[in-house]
Amino acid sequence: MKELLRTKGFKSTPQRELIFDCFFSLGKHVSVDELYQKVRELDPSVGHSTVWRNLKLICQLGLAEEVNIGDGITRYDRTTPKPHGHFFCRNCKKLLEFDVGSVMGALVEAAHEFEFEPDGYKIEVQGYCSDCRQDDRTNDVATRSANDERKA
Ligand SMILES: [Zn+2]
Repeated sequence: MKELLRTKGFKSTPQRELIFDCFFSLGKHVSVDELYQKVRELDPSVGHSTVWRNLKLICQLGLAEEVNIGDGITRYDRTTPKPHGHFFCRNCKKLLEFDVGSVMGALVEAAHEFEFEPDGYKIEVQGYCSDCRQDDRTNDVATRSANDERKA
């Protein structure tokens, strides 16, 4: 979880990690108060507003979303699948999924700057995959030495 926060451009603090871990261990339909209670069992020094802020952050990161099941209490569900982007190969039309962790933090910040409230995103990068680029190569020596470098 520390790694995840770091790659998304957010500072990882022990409290934040605890709150994230608690949220994901609780599973489905978690309310702020349920999360708060769970966190307090493990660290009584964590305040309600800290739990609330971090829950909002989890949503901003696209890891969870608000659900309302009609009793007036807002609950939060972890979202699946993981936020990801696509590399699209123009030649073979292959779609490769990549983790958007490192760009997510920047996106959230940019949205804040424009006072824009995002509710979805689509990241697609077009180009050519390694298989297709390899086919184009006529210089065997260059290919071999590149492979050797990778092994070293
Ligand atoms: Zn390709």
